[in-house]
Amino acid sequence: MTHDIIVLGAGMVGVGCALHLQARGQSVALLDRRAPGLETSYGNAGIIQREAIAPYALPRDLGFLLSGATNQRVDVRYNASDAARMLGPLWSYYRHSAPGPYQRISREYETLIALSLDTHAPLMRDAGAEDLVAGQGYLMLYRSERELHEFFEVADERAQAGVHHLKLTGADVAREEPALVGEFAGAVRWTDPVAIRSPGDLVQAYARLFVQRRGAVHLGDALGLRQSGSGGWQVDTADGRTLSAPQVVVALGPWTLQLTSRFGYTAPMIPKRGYHMHYARLPGQTLNSTVIDAEYGYVVAPMKDGLRLTTGAELANADAPRTPTQIDAAEAIARQSFPLGERVDPEPWMGTRPCMPDMKPVFGPVPSVPGLWCAFGHGHQGFTLGPVTGELLAAMMTGATPRVDVRPFSPARFG
Ligand SMILES: Cc1cc2nc3c(=O)[nH]c(=O)nc-3n(C[C@H](O)[C@H](O)[C@H](O)COP(=O)(O)OP(=O)(O)OC[C@H]3O[C@@H](n4cnc5c(N)ncnc54)[C@H](O)[C@@H]3O)c2cc1C
Repeated sequence: MTHDIIVLGAGMVGVGCALHLQARGQSVALLDRRAPGLETSYGNAGIIQREAIAPYALPRDLGFLLSGATNQRVDVRYNASDAARMLGPLWSYYRHSAPGPYQRISREYETLIALSLDTHAPLMRDAGAEDLVAGQGYLMLYRSERELHEFFEVADERAQAGVHHLKLTGADVAREEPALVGEFAGAVRWTDPVAIRSPGDLVQAYARLFVQRRGAVHLGDALGLRQSGSGGWQVDTADGRTLSAPQVVVALGPWTLQLTSRFGYTAPMIPKRGYHMHYARLPGQTLNSTVIDAEYGYVVAPMKDGLRLTTGAELANADAPRTPTQIDAAEAIARQSFPLGERVDPEPWMGTRPCMPDMKPVFGPVPSVPGLWCAFGHGHQGFTLGPVTGELLAAMMTGATPRVDVRPFSPARFG
């Protein structure tokens, strides 16, 4: 079966690319080893983060670095041998997190985040998925007055870039979220982001829209991609067909480099794993919006399947054995304040944020491999950025001018 373009990977990023390429008149086949939206794009905290105009930097203060060394923090853990192998990328991440580079990177990052709601909204409408919106905004919750006031300054800075918030006192928090127990200094309520009550369902709704618009979704192993004699690309589907196209987009999230390295392209990715668990709701005690417990770095989100607790980052290879300690530690803290009932899932879910040392996603043509494109490395905000990445990549691939300068996100900056 011959198409204009094959997109490999049906997470939020791959589906976003497939829809936008299709909107530009391309015949697109989408291939994944599983049904759409079952990996990283399924298990995240479900926030379309319009407020995240600055990416997630590596904290550079000595207190953080020393406390991290003991591997007991709730928000960040590491697998010692995997982290040792990541020392080069981590050093690069540290340097990019210095104030000067970080400001430049944030300005570039903001150009993408600013388009996130505008690119999700029409897809959500056309996919009939607006009922997946759990609510508008979320809370960054603080126990310490000092940290709250430092974060108020961050919020004020972002307000200058058009990101909206409300400052809440401890009493305001108690009024907005009466089921929370504890002494809280206050919170910032970001008012622009949109919380989704089942992120995987949103990806699947977008994939159904792609099919309704005459797109084809196939099961198959992307690692079977090969160059065909005629200069194009081929990959086999699980049901024995062969897909052919002159151009391919590799959007395999944390697994992207497994494939591109076979064609000579690699980049320094830092895999930040995260876990989630759902908890039953307690009778009469609701959580009205998603809450980030800022000092401990976990999230509790009201979702379709219960209250979903997602953890911070574990530096470990995507395929390394799971360690349940981080979710246990976060749960122990969360149970003191949040109305968490029994665990619902038989075991914690785990996924990997594909993070780059310069904190920016990677999309565009793979250098020196004609017809091979990639879209990956969206780190902490790939659920937010999938559709905007799709829009910009589709413009590049069809010879149109992208709405923003795409050079900062070029794959050519590595390798
Ligand atoms: C705990 C946690 C919380 C998060 N919270 C948020 C949030 O609130 N907001 C936000 O914006 N982002 C969040 N993120 C980040 C976000 O989930 C990711 O950046 C995003 O899902 C990445 O999307 P993707 O499409 O690149 O990757 P994926 O969703 O992982 O998609 C990659 C696809 O490739 C497929 N694949 C892999 N290998 C092969 C192969 N060999 N053959 C065929 N198919 C293959 C997989 O099956 C998968 O479907 C969070 C992440 C985590 C872990």
